[in-house]
Amino acid sequence: MLVFPKSDAAFLTAKFREHERYALRMLAIFGLVGLTLWAWDYVIDPVGARATLPLRLLMFTLALIPLGTRNVVTDRQTMTLMLFAAPLIGLLVFFAILLRLKGGMAYGIGGFMYFQLVGLVVLRGCSYQLVVAFHVAAALLPNLLGLLLPAAGFEQGHYAVLLWPAAAIAAIVQHAMHQEYARSYVLRQQLEQAALTDALTGTYNRRYFSEVVGTEMARVERDLSRLSLLLVDIDHFKSINDRLGHAAGDAALKAVSAILKGQLRPSDRLFRWGGEEFVVLAPSAALADAMTLAERLRRSCESADIAGTGRVTLSIGAAEFAGETLEDWIKRADEALYNAKQNGRNRVEGAQKRR
Ligand code: GH3
Ligand code: MG
Ligand code: MG
Repeated sequence: MLVFPKSDAAFLTAKFREHERYALRMLAIFGLVGLTLWAWDYVIDPVGARATLPLRLLMFTLALIPLGTRNVVTDRQTMTLMLFAAPLIGLLVFFAILLRLKGGMAYGIGGFMYFQLVGLVVLRGCSYQLVVAFHVAAALLPNLLGLLLPAAGFEQGHYAVLLWPAAAIAAIVQHAMHQEYARSYVLRQQLEQAALTDALTGTYNRRYFSEVVGTEMARVERDLSRLSLLLVDIDHFKSINDRLGHAAGDAALKAVSAILKGQLRPSDRLFRWGGEEFVVLAPSAALADAMTLAERLRRSCESADIAGTGRVTLSIGAAEFAGETLEDWIKRADEALYNAKQNGRNRVEGAQKRR
């Protein structure tokens, strides 16, 4: 069952960002179309058309502003406002153009349809509410201008039968596109979730570890910060399976991962390494911090009474990243874990720094 996150902030940001380049280019193209429609002005009134060229150029410029300021305007709200306002101001300019042409209001009235088309394409990445607001505003503005300027010869009735159905159709199409985007967004989220997490425990999987660890290692080199990892292994897990069955083993794995997760800070990440082994990646943690964290994990697991299994203990090897390869770093953590097992299990050992 899909849940449509229509007002979710991350959803709206993704929707906007994925459509932004397209929207800006399309707005520029519409601006160009608006400019070439000067030919239509010429057909309506060759004499008056000359006076409309500066207005046509103004429309084109308006359409180019969002594209031109893309590198300056990076916040979504401002860019959305520009995409919303530019066509509406363009519409006012278009009204002014028709005013300058003899019979412009009669012959050019269909031109208002273009603005519905602009909204359909250019505002595709915006929220549904905003999109509807645009289509209504773009349909309403000429109606209002016609009332304010009775001498303009604006045909309210002709205009209304043409534009209001167009606006309604645009809103319906926008709704369908919005639903379609929401559906693909949710499916992508689910796919990502499935690809990066372990199905049994819900922790991140080893694939995701490979994805993020490189970034974290690069950050250490760049910012001279610290980074540690813990290799966590459940003690005598095989005997849980043997004594209580595989299902109880699975339940214990889930319970342990929940205990571990409960002890981590938001910046720490827990991965299932495989079998009954987990990895914790702890940014900003030097070896001493990692040892403290490991000790906390060990103790909280030891003191928990896991339903159906009872007491479960952990052995943990901790290693701080020392500029080596990932393989060497993990090898040191693995050696520390081996020492923890050798020294009696249910304990934490730190890895030696090797350079
Ligand atoms: P040690 O204290 O030395 O770590 O001993 P151990 O028994 O925990 O380690 P060993 O590697 O011998 O056994 C790990 C066991 O974990 C063997 C395997 O059947 C079991 N195992 C691995 N993955 C799963 C799983 O997803 N579910 C269950 N139930 N068992 C699993
Ligand atoms: Mg193991
Ligand atoms: Mg084990």
